[in-house]
This record gives sequence, structure tokens and C-alpha cells, in this order.
Amino acid sequence: EAKRQGRNTIVWYTTDFHKRAQYRLMLAARLHRAFENSDFTLQYQPQISTQDNTVIGVEALLRWTPADLPPVSPMEFIPILEETGLIVPVGTWVLYQACHQAAAWQRAGLPRMRLSVNISAVQFQRGDLGETVRMVLAETGLDPALLCLELTESMLMIDTAQSQQKLQELRDLGVRLALDDFGTGYSSLAYLSRLPVQELKVDQSFVRRLHDTPSDTAVVNTVIAMAQELGLTLIAEGVESEEQKSHLIGRGCTIIQGFLFCRPLPPDQLALFVGQEGHDEPQA
Ligand code: C2E
Ligand code: MG
Ligand code: MG
Ligand code: MG
Repeated sequence: EAKRQGRNTIVWYTTDFHKRAQYRLMLAARLHRAFENSDFTLQYQPQISTQDNTVIGVEALLRWTPADLPPVSPMEFIPILEETGLIVPVGTWVLYQACHQAAAWQRAGLPRMRLSVNISAVQFQRGDLGETVRMVLAETGLDPALLCLELTESMLMIDTAQSQQKLQELRDLGVRLALDDFGTGYSSLAYLSRLPVQELKVDQSFVRRLHDTPSDTAVVNTVIAMAQELGLTLIAEGVESEEQKSHLIGRGCTIIQGFLFCRPLPPDQLALFVGQEGHDEPQA
């Protein structure tokens, strides 16, 4: 009986693995055509200052909506874009599209707000990111000081000298640099203090478990203290409850991003949200 169960289990896993591999191949083929089909769009999630409830910035988030498939999460399709190298042209499109939108909002008279764009490790290592960013800023006319590139710890740990040079090249363009998903990697305080970054985003997994797990509370408190010590801007993301918000404010974290305030929105809805006065009423 046990043996038969064991065999069934193996068969089940094999089939499941096979199905997943096939599904990913199908997605990869679709992603190759996503550009021509105009299947990519961007949504923007506000980052709120808790001091005056104003939107100080937005994060651009890529959406892929193929006509004949149910929505696919970025957690699923970004790794496929990275494996196929497609993330380089798609990442350039994201940068251009988002900067173009942000510049248009400024021209339309919206309050001055920053634009954060996620950069993949593959884009950072393989593409000529400095040249791409320089070109995009020149073409869209966005003030470089309004652009913030979100990088991750893991991509900066590799090849430190070359990474340092690439980061400096980006800084010389006048853009801001943020470390996304902070706390999930292995950065030491000494390492962090040598990086030319201006911003830390504490990973949402810690924020989510703020009041469940003492160790996660400790991580959040420590990252906030670290950011203050190093003079870095800190953003907490994934904030969903008033309880999380008050804890963060109590510790001195004043910029938050999360469903408590606003979900990622299409551009027209974002402009409406920013146009409203005060954002102290949490939106579902
Ligand atoms: P991220 O950069 O850490 O972005 C934040 C993610 O958290 C977004 O998920 C956002 O929708 C979600 N989020 C924000 N507030 C809350 C909240 O209160 N609760 C919960 N449960 N989630 C919240 P999304 O859009 O699915 O993106 C997932 C990841 O995919 C991003 O994580 C980023 O790593 C990657 N990604 C998205 N767009 C791009 C892009 O244009 N380029 C690259 N390279 N990566 C991207
Ligand atoms: Mg991000
Ligand atoms: Mg990320
Ligand atoms: Mg993040």
C-alpha cells in the first residue's frame, strides 16, 4: 500500500512538473509576441507621506494582459522575461513609458512626485543601463531628480567593483537609487554604507508579519533605525492595516506604500487619486 502510494506520488509530481514546464514554455512564446500585441501596460501605486497624507511618489508596476489568457502575475512572468533575455527590451520600454507618463503628469500640473521603476538584475548586468536611462531622460524630458531606480540587494552583491561603477554612472545622471525588498538579502551595515543608494524599501514580508512574529518586528525596527543612522529615506511597502501603519509611524517611518492607502492604478485613475485633497481615508 505504502509502495503504491509512493509510486502514485511520483507519477503525480512528474505530471505536474511536466504541465508546469509546458505552461512556462507557452507563456514564453506568448511573451515574445506581447510587444506586437500591445499586451503590456503599467500601473502606478502611490507612496504616501504620513506626515501630511500627500502622494510623494509612485511606483510603476508592469502588467501583462494577454487577450486569451487569465491575468498572469509579475511574479510568474518577470522570471520568464529574465530567463529569455526579453527583460532587457521590455525593461527599456517600462522605463520609457513610465518616464513619459511622469513627465506628462508634471506638465499637466500634478503635484511634484517621484517615479520609482523596478530594475531587474539581468537588466543591470547585461544591458547598458546608464546609456538607456540617459537616453530616456533626454527624450522624455523628465527631471532626473524625480526618477528613482529600484534595485535589489542580490544583484549588487555580485561583482562589487563593476556594480559600484555602474551605480556611480547612474548617480552621475542625477537619478535616485533604492534598494528594494530590503532585509531579505545579506547586506551588512558596512556594505550598505558604501553603496551610493538614497533609499531603502523594507520588504513587505516583514511588514505583513509585523504583529505576528517578534523576529519580523525586530527586522522592521532595525531596518528603520539603520536607515535613520545612514541618512537614507525609508519606505515601508505592503502596508495593509492601521495597526501596521501606527507601528511604522511610531518608529519614525513616514513613507508608506500599500493597499491600506491605494492599490496600483491605471494612469488616469492615478491622476484622479493624486488630484483629490488629502488621502487620510484609506481606500480599498
Ligand atoms: P516590488 O517591486 O516589491 O513591488 C511591490 C509589489 O507589492 C507589487 O506587486 C504591488 O502590487 C504589491 N503590493 C503593494 N502594496 C501591497 C499590499 O499592501 N499588500 C500586498 N499583498 N501587496 C502589495 P506586483 O505588481 O505583483 O509586482 C511584483 C514584483 O514584480 C515587484 O515587486 C517587482 O519585483 C516585479 N516587477 C513588477 N513590475 C516590474 C517591472 O516593470 N520591472 C521589473 N524588473 N520587475 C517588476
Ligand atoms: Mg519595487
Ligand atoms: Mg522586487
Ligand atoms: Mg519590494
